[in-house]
Amino acid sequence: MTDVVLATHNEHKAKEFREIFGSVCPDIRILTLSDIGHDEEIEENGATFEENAIIKASVPASFGYIGIADDSGLAVDFLGGDPGVRSARYAGLGCDSAACREKLLKVMKGVPENERGAGFVCVMALCLPEGSGLSVPADLRISRETAERSGRPAEMTAVVRGECRGRITDKEYGDLGFGYDPVFFSPEFGKTFGELAADEKNSISHRGRAAEKFAAVLSRVLK
Ligand code: IMP
Repeated sequence: MTDVVLATHNEHKAKEFREIFGSVCPDIRILTLSDIGHDEEIEENGATFEENAIIKASVPASFGYIGIADDSGLAVDFLGGDPGVRSARYAGLGCDSAACREKLLKVMKGVPENERGAGFVCVMALCLPEGSGLSVPADLRISRETAERSGRPAEMTAVVRGECRGRITDKEYGDLGFGYDPVFFSPEFGKTFGELAADEKNSISHRGRAAEKFAAVLSRVLK
C-alpha cells in the first residue's frame, strides 16, 4: 500500500478522490493534510490552474509525502478566460456561489449566443518528494517553463488537464450541482449542469476527464 496525501482539509473532497481512484489504483491510500498534522491553509496565489495545483501538491511533498491536488474553475472566452483561478471569489473575497453567478450573468448580459462559449477546467497535479526513488516518466512531466515558474523539478512533477466545453446561459436553469452549474449549458445533454444528475455530469465533466487521465499517471508512476 502506498500513501498519497491529497492537499486539502476538505473531507468531502477526500471522499470523492477515494471513490474515483479506489477501484483504478487499489494499492494507494489517500490521506489528507489533517492526517499529516498540517493545519494551515495553503495560499493559492498562482496565475494558472496548473500553478495552483502544483503549489498545493508540493506541500505534502515538502514534508516527504507523495502529494496530489486539484484546482478547477470556469474560463469564459468572452472574458479572456475569467473568472479562471478566481472562480470561487469572483464576486469578492468570501462571496457565495449565488453572488458569483449573478455577477457573471450581469457581465455577460447582451453578449450574443455565438460569443458565450466557456469551459470548465480541472487540473490535477502529482508532486513526488525528494529521495522517494520514484520519478515521472518523460512523456508525463511538466514542461520546462512550468518547472521554472513553479520551482519544481520536472522529473518529479506531473499535471493533467480535463476540460468540458459549453456556454453561459442568460439566466439560471436548475438547482442541482454547485458553483456555476446552473449557468453552464452543456451541448451534449441540451441542459445546464444545474439540471443534470450527478452521474450524468460526471460522465462528461472536467473533473471526470482529469481524473481518468490522472489515474493513468498514478498507476504508471506508483506501479
Ligand atoms: P475548486 O478548485 O474545485 O475548489 O473550484 C473552484 C471554484 O470553481 C468553485 O468554487 C466553483 O465556483 C468553480 N467550479 C469548479 N468546478 C465546478 C463545477 O463542476 N461546477 C460548478 N462550478 C465549479
